[in-house]
Amino acid sequence: RFYSNKDAGLADVDPTKLVVTKHHAPGELLNEENLVFGRTFSDHMLAIEWNSTTGWGAPQVKPYQNLSLDPATCVFHYGFSCFEGMKAYRTSSGDLRLFRPKDNMERMNKSCQRIALPGFNPDAMAECIAKFVALEEKYVPKRRGYSLYLRPTMIGTQATLGVGPPGSALFFMIASPVGPYYPTGFKAVSLEATSKYVRAWPGGTGDKKLGGNYAPCIVPQLEAASRGYHQNLWLFGEEGYITEVGTMNLFTAWINEDGQKELITAPLDGTILEGITRDSILALAREFLTKEGYIISEKKYTIKQMSKAADEGRLLEVFGAGTAAVVSPVRKIAWDGGNTGVAREIEVPLPAGKEAGPIAERMWKWMEERQYGDVESEWSYPV
Ligand code: PMP
Repeated sequence: RFYSNKDAGLADVDPTKLVVTKHHAPGELLNEENLVFGRTFSDHMLAIEWNSTTGWGAPQVKPYQNLSLDPATCVFHYGFSCFEGMKAYRTSSGDLRLFRPKDNMERMNKSCQRIALPGFNPDAMAECIAKFVALEEKYVPKRRGYSLYLRPTMIGTQATLGVGPPGSALFFMIASPVGPYYPTGFKAVSLEATSKYVRAWPGGTGDKKLGGNYAPCIVPQLEAASRGYHQNLWLFGEEGYITEVGTMNLFTAWINEDGQKELITAPLDGTILEGITRDSILALAREFLTKEGYIISEKKYTIKQMSKAADEGRLLEVFGAGTAAVVSPVRKIAWDGGNTGVAREIEVPLPAGKEAGPIAERMWKWMEERQYGDVESEWSYPV
């Protein structure tokens, strides 16, 4: 019933049906340089309603406004909510690009279907998003490093306390102009490896972008912060497998135990989010770093192995990867030592006087060139 609108005879998302209702007093993007993440929003929102008898309705662009929902609405009680995070960029010639929007919509489709929210055609949804961005054009900042952050969200809207698949849902998207994550250049972060809390587990939902995955991560994050660390590193299992950092995927460059130069990241085994940045970095690494003798691996590895590599001078670089920062270099990782029982801080080497290693630095540049259209790429989606 929920998985395929077409098979169920229901209407799918149709960008040609888009209806636009303009804001009576549209604003302007003022003070680009003072933007605070997620505080200011564009004039309009995109909204598409779904119900189980007719499927997806006509997409609507309408003035940004409050939602009015019955207190019995299932999203408030049982967490029928998932979302995406993506950006629109302005190229140096002034036109607009999205970065891999169909991949975000495919991921969202999987998130929705895991929690019995309706699926949709990802290409059609990406088209609706592009149309919305074209209409909100003035909110895409002009400065390099700036972008319009897009937040597609889906919620179950049926007003019922019965626990079951929602009979109605709402897709909406709001947009927030944002500045660069590192306005004055990289700032390497320190991490605390968390073993007290577990973010995700096999068969769980940690590989989906559900609202319910995020709230439980705040307290562990606050605890790490109270001890002076920027983010927590999520470990899994007795072995201490390295999974993700905060809300980013994690990459490690080292000389592995076989003496090979390797860029390694955790595999898509259900315990990490399938990051679009992660996938892009893997592709760029396969294109460029293999020429420098690196092997590129999506493979399980442990904090113990990382700690040993650091002791033996084989640890080269560690960095997080996600839409917000693109890459986020790491300088140290605190670890309680697991079953070794010896707590320690793993120092990640950084070039003298620098906040990022050569891989992180170039990955950031390669990504930016493709996001802002300096280098043509199949990832870049013209608006
Ligand atoms: N892991 C988690 C838990 C996240 O929330 C995010 C941000 N979406 C990422 C990784 C990075 O994913 P992406 O590169 O698609 O932004």
